[in-house]
Amino acid sequence: MQSNPNPIQIPFNRLSLVGSEIEYLQSAIQSGHVSGDGSFTKRCHQLLESSLGSAKALLTTSCTHALDMSALLLEIEPGDEVIVPDFTFVSTVNAFVLRGARPVFIDVRPDTLNLDERLLEGLITPRTRAILPVHYAGVGCEMDSILEIAGRHNVPVVEDNAHGLFGKYRGRYLGTFGCMATQSFHETKNFSCGEGGALLINDLKYVERAEIIREKGTDRSRFFRGQVDKYSWVDIGSSYLPSDMLAGFLLAQLEKRELIQTRRQAIWETYRDALDYWAAAIGATLPMVPAYCEQSYHMFYLLMPDLDSRQRFIAHLRERQILSVFHYLPLHLSVMGQKFGGQPGDCPVTEDVSDRLVRLPFFYSLAENEQNQVIEAVLSFEG
Ligand SMILES: *Cc1c(COP(=O)(O)O)cnc(C)c1O
Repeated sequence: MQSNPNPIQIPFNRLSLVGSEIEYLQSAIQSGHVSGDGSFTKRCHQLLESSLGSAKALLTTSCTHALDMSALLLEIEPGDEVIVPDFTFVSTVNAFVLRGARPVFIDVRPDTLNLDERLLEGLITPRTRAILPVHYAGVGCEMDSILEIAGRHNVPVVEDNAHGLFGKYRGRYLGTFGCMATQSFHETKNFSCGEGGALLINDLKYVERAEIIREKGTDRSRFFRGQVDKYSWVDIGSSYLPSDMLAGFLLAQLEKRELIQTRRQAIWETYRDALDYWAAAIGATLPMVPAYCEQSYHMFYLLMPDLDSRQRFIAHLRERQILSVFHYLPLHLSVMGQKFGGQPGDCPVTEDVSDRLVRLPFFYSLAENEQNQVIEAVLSFEG
């Protein structure tokens, strides 16, 4: 095999061990309880509930599966409509399409890249069954307006908070605004166990059924609490609970949340301070964070002047052995989106930013000298 003459030196993301991950993994194995809902899972639930103030947290095998659960809990049926940002990961919409819903794509704001709440009311119809704000980059959507409009039309709000754990909007934690919210612990997120997620439930009326759906449609959770003397099939459901080994790994990361977030904040601010002047000079823009949003420091992105400069910028960094990436092709123009009638021009802001966005290497263990190398490489790009 030929070796790559120009290997990546600074990856886009790197798994970081920050605390007791290996110890907890070992302890889960030694305890003999490696299936779901063991002691580490319970500790993750308690930590999420007490730190966020969410009524109920349930670990899941992924954010995708937490979204699937939310669609089941809302009893989404064929013909229902759900409003999802055009600029998001496919899972936000797939969960609802799986139930037969028709996605209605809402364009995003050009400043925060969050769904544009000014367009929301015009997209609501008598068939609208859910609104799915995604807190892009962990910067809160305009939740006051969104909740006001949703409330007036009696439409449930589910937050896809995959980016936003421990971020806040007007002093309140993201993930606690909707009737439900979903989290991701995929390896690219701030806190990870490889593959994992959580469903946060803020409206207590969904808790009992969520436990059943997560346990293959059985009342197994009630059985383990001694509330019923045998467990049986009582509803539809699937297997959405992760192994306690993964929960142990995750707990170790969640316990170090202050350390992780403080470090991510420092990396983010270093990028901003170092690149501010350069960006203005070449016509690029840095992320916008409203004063009333405490972001979760999930990513550092740039909006380049156009597609051509974005592609040349990625190649420029790659020549310097640095991997930068772009993401989120407009959902309405994807193969599936077009099946739902998506046409060029439907969501002009998404179409524009999707061409221009680039994400820099950003992870907990990004060393100071590595970040300096990235910054130097960026500053040597002259547009
Ligand atoms: C990562 C991500 C998901 C999916 O998370 P998984 O845990 O990989 O299923 C969903 N929505 C958004 C916005 C994401 O960034």
